[in-house]
Amino acid sequence: MALKSHFSKNRLSINCTYLLNTANMKFKKLCLIVGIALAVAACNDANQKNASKTDVNHATIYYGGDIITMEGDSAQYAEAVVVKDGKILFVGGKDEAMKQAGEGHQMVDLQGKTLLPSFIDAHGHYISSLTVANQCNLYPPPNGPGNSPEAIAAALKKFAEEKKIPQGETIQAYGYDDNMMPKGNLLNRDHLDAAFPNNPVIVGHVSMHGAVLNSAALKKFGYDEKYVTPPGGIVVRKPGTKEPYGLIMETAYLPIFAAQPKPTAAQEVEWTKAGQMLYASAGITLAHEGATHATDLDLIKRATDADANVIDVVVHPFMTDLDSIVKKFPVNSWGKFEKRLKIGGIKITADGSPQGKTAYFTTPYLTGGPSGEKNWKGEPTMPQADLDKLVKLAYTWKVPLIIHTNGDGTIDMFIKAYNNARGADTTTPWNVTTIHTQFVRKDQLPFFVNRKVRPSFYTEHAFYFSDAHRKNRGEKQAAYLSPMKDAIKLGLHPTNHTDFYVSPLDQLFMMWTAVNRPTRSGGVLGADQRVTPYEALKSQTIWAAEQYEEQEDRGTLKAGKLADMVILDKNPLKVDPQILKDLKVVETIKEGKSIYKAQ
Ligand SMILES: [Zn+2]
Repeated sequence: MALKSHFSKNRLSINCTYLLNTANMKFKKLCLIVGIALAVAACNDANQKNASKTDVNHATIYYGGDIITMEGDSAQYAEAVVVKDGKILFVGGKDEAMKQAGEGHQMVDLQGKTLLPSFIDAHGHYISSLTVANQCNLYPPPNGPGNSPEAIAAALKKFAEEKKIPQGETIQAYGYDDNMMPKGNLLNRDHLDAAFPNNPVIVGHVSMHGAVLNSAALKKFGYDEKYVTPPGGIVVRKPGTKEPYGLIMETAYLPIFAAQPKPTAAQEVEWTKAGQMLYASAGITLAHEGATHATDLDLIKRATDADANVIDVVVHPFMTDLDSIVKKFPVNSWGKFEKRLKIGGIKITADGSPQGKTAYFTTPYLTGGPSGEKNWKGEPTMPQADLDKLVKLAYTWKVPLIIHTNGDGTIDMFIKAYNNARGADTTTPWNVTTIHTQFVRKDQLPFFVNRKVRPSFYTEHAFYFSDAHRKNRGEKQAAYLSPMKDAIKLGLHPTNHTDFYVSPLDQLFMMWTAVNRPTRSGGVLGADQRVTPYEALKSQTIWAAEQYEEQEDRGTLKAGKLADMVILDKNPLKVDPQILKDLKVVETIKEGKSIYKAQ
C-alpha cells in the first residue's frame, strides 16, 4: 500500500503505544512494521510543520482499486472513498472525492487491491481469543499444519522457540483433529516427549472436549497408572500397559479445562489486544462473544474501561448467568456501544451438535446414539416448559435473542416457544436469530419469514463434517445442511459464522464454503444451496450488521457510517470461486485507523 503525504503524528503515537503496551511477540512484530511504515511516512512529511496540530481533521482518500460498497442487491463499485474523523465522508467518483476531502488530504493508492466493508463476526466465542493468541495453532490443513504427529511436534517446537518459552512452562495448543492423522498414527505422549522433556504440553482437541498431553503434563495433572477413569471420561492407555498415553477426553478432561490459563489483572489489557488482533488480521472489526459468563463479562468490561479494545465486541450473556449479569449490567444499559463494547441480548442454547449426535431431531440418527442407543433422536438441552420460560423472558425484557438450534426437533421446540412468548403480537419488533440452524427443514423456513426471525448458518460444516452428516442423517438431509440459498430466495437475510474457536477465524475460508459447499474429499454437499459470492459477502457484512442492529453505522461503505474497512489482495467477486479461500487480508481499518497490515 502506498502511503502518500500528511501522515499524522497522532496516528503514529497511537500505534507506538500498542508497541509499548504488549509483550505478545506476533503483535510486537506487527506493530513494529506498522510503526516503521508510519515513521517513514512521518519522515517524508518532515517539512510539514505543526502537523500534529492540524492533521487531526485531514481526510484520507482511498482509490486505485476495486471498491465494493455492499450497497444494493448487486455489486456496486465506487472510484474513491473519503474517510475523515473515523467516519466515511464520501463514496463515489475520484474528482468529487478530491473536492470533498478538502485541503491537506492524504491519498492511499490501493494499487489494484480491493476495498470493502470490514467483516462482522456473526457468531463465535471471543473470550477464547484471549488465550488462543498465546497458543499454538495445530488445525489440520488448510487451516494449520496438523496433519501428522510429526508435523504437530515440529510446529510446537517452532512455536516454543519463537515465543522463547522457558523450560518448565506449560505450552498450550489447539485444533488437534485425530480424524486427519495418517491411519493408525494418532498423536500420543511419545511424539511430544522427545522435543519437550521438561515442559508440560497440552494439545487441545478440535472438539474442545479433550486434549493430548505429554508425560510432563500427565504428571502435572496426576494422570498415572493408578488413575481411575471417571464415568463419561476417556483416558487412552499405552497398548499392553495401564500408562496414560496422552489423549484425555470428556469428564476426565474437566480438571485440565478448569485449569486453562486466565490472564492476571496485569495481563488483561495485553491479552485483550492480542486476541483482538487475531480478528483484525482476519479483516474483522466486530467480534462476537456468543455465550458470555458473568466472570468473562467482568474481564471484558475491565479491559474495555482500560481502553484495550482495538475492535468492537458484542456480548450475549449466557442463559445460566443472567441473574448475576443484570445485577451489574441492568437491561436498560444494553444495546449501545460504549468504548467499543455492547451487550447485544440473551443467548440460549437449546441442543448440542449433529456430529456429536447431541443435536435433537424429529427422526432417529441412522447410526444410533453416542453410546450405541437405538432409535436415538438426540436430546434438547432443556424441556419445552423451561425453553418457553427463557424465550418469554427475552421477549418481556425486549432484548434481542440468539438461540443455538441445530436439529429440526429443536427448531420445532423454538418455534413453539416463540409463538408462546409472542402470541398474536406482530407489531412490536423483536430481533431474534437462530444460531447454526444447520438442520432446519424446508417447511420450517416460512416461520422465519413470517416472524422475521434471522437464521445464522454454519456452512463450514459442509467441508468439515459432510461425511459424518451423510452417515448419521442420510444424503438428503445432509445435503440440506444450512440451506442458505433457500433462505435468501424467501427474502431472508441470513448470516454465516465460524463459531470460533470451534473453527478458525477465516472469513474468506467461510465464504468459500458458502459459495462452493465443498467437502473434504473434493465433492459438493447440496449444490442447490450454494450462494453467489455477493450473497456470501452480504451474510458477513451488512446482514451481520443487521443482526446486531448496527446497519446504520456498519456493514456497507456509505457516507456517515464508521470507516470500518478491509483491503483484500484480490476481488472476491471477480476471482474463480474455487480460490476464494486463498485470498489474503492485506489491511484492516477500524474507524479510519489502520489496525492490521499483512507482513
Ligand atoms: Zn457457538
